[in-house]
Amino acid sequence: MTFQDLNIVPSILKALAQENYVKPTPIQEQAIPPVLAGRDLFGCAQTGTGKTAAFALPIIQLLSEQPAGQQGQRRPIRALILTPTRELAIQIDDNIRAYGKFTKLRSAVIVGGVSQKGQEESLGRGADIVIATPGRLIDLMNQNVVDLRHVQILVLDEADRMLDMGFAHDMKRIVAKLPTKRQTLFFSATMPPEIAEMVKSLLVNPVRIEITPVSSTADRITQSVYLVDKPNKLQLLIHLLQDKSIVSALVFTRTKHGADRVVRGLSKAQISAQAIHGDKSQNARQAALNNFKSGATRVLVATDIAARGIDIDELSHVINYNLPNVPETYVHRIGRTGRAGLSGIAISFCEYEELPYLKDIEKLIKKKIPQVEDHPYPMEAAVPAGKA
Ligand code: AMP
Repeated sequence: MTFQDLNIVPSILKALAQENYVKPTPIQEQAIPPVLAGRDLFGCAQTGTGKTAAFALPIIQLLSEQPAGQQGQRRPIRALILTPTRELAIQIDDNIRAYGKFTKLRSAVIVGGVSQKGQEESLGRGADIVIATPGRLIDLMNQNVVDLRHVQILVLDEADRMLDMGFAHDMKRIVAKLPTKRQTLFFSATMPPEIAEMVKSLLVNPVRIEITPVSSTADRITQSVYLVDKPNKLQLLIHLLQDKSIVSALVFTRTKHGADRVVRGLSKAQISAQAIHGDKSQNARQAALNNFKSGATRVLVATDIAARGIDIDELSHVINYNLPNVPETYVHRIGRTGRAGLSGIAISFCEYEELPYLKDIEKLIKKKIPQVEDHPYPMEAAVPAGKA
């Protein structure tokens, strides 16, 4: 199957060729035809499956085939994409600009944590597609600087995450301001009862697609676990990073302070590292991300929330400095590597207190993560292989 088989128009095909997208991913194959046909969609899929293009490509195509609004008037917002984090919003916008570079569409990002002036200006110039986090969008709606009366397509991206972050009320208020006659695309990695309820109330006769259930870890990701005492974790990390074949690594810590400590430790060992977490300003987070993407920093240390929207091509290594207590989080984390058909390596450190988490993770993914026993910092309270 090719993008041409999915009836993608030449202007977008040209952009995809420049992005080196050869083949649509499974979610793109399944989502693009019904979205082009105007259907509502419920996608149970996580980041890393190609879901952004699955909704962005048909939206760009549908909008570019219509006039952008009346001559002489400001072009109306015709598609609204709601997403939980600033990073994700910026990432989606980057993708839309890349895919739509040979169309005349314009997009704008509305996110908190930065001054609202630039955002007002881009709305003032007219945007066909707006990508927003709920909080700032509500602010602008309250100030009457954003007009959602002409929205034809609504995307709720990572809806479960938006609920987790306390955006339920804001989402309802935003949806209430949209035309009832519209196309709605709804994405969520998990399906708690609140999500099922929202799907029922917001979508009309949706097409349902489910890609890579959260409990299945991609087979192409090589996983391993090191049992190590907490005080030795930093030394173990430094030891592993002596391996120059680890060109770049995304390291997960449980806390913001933990992230900063790891960065300090690595920097002392002459390993370039930066942290990305909620205490950093938007600019600092974006700078850290850009440095990582360009290869200027080798290690990016992140907490789960901050990492949520990170989209990095060709990430080879994910390292869990701490194991998460929610096993699904492990699957999300390691899904950051091995993307778009590339292979990836996921390494986890497990201290004594985290052994129960390891057990939960192995139960969820229904396989044992191979233990690396031959390393310089073995756990003192040695656990026999297979008993962890
Ligand atoms: P997403 O799930 O939207 O975050 O996408 C995951 C990654 O896959 C992003 O880096 C995309 O740029 C990339 N990607 C999406 N679709 C394709 C495709 N058809 N071929 C190659 N890479 C893709």
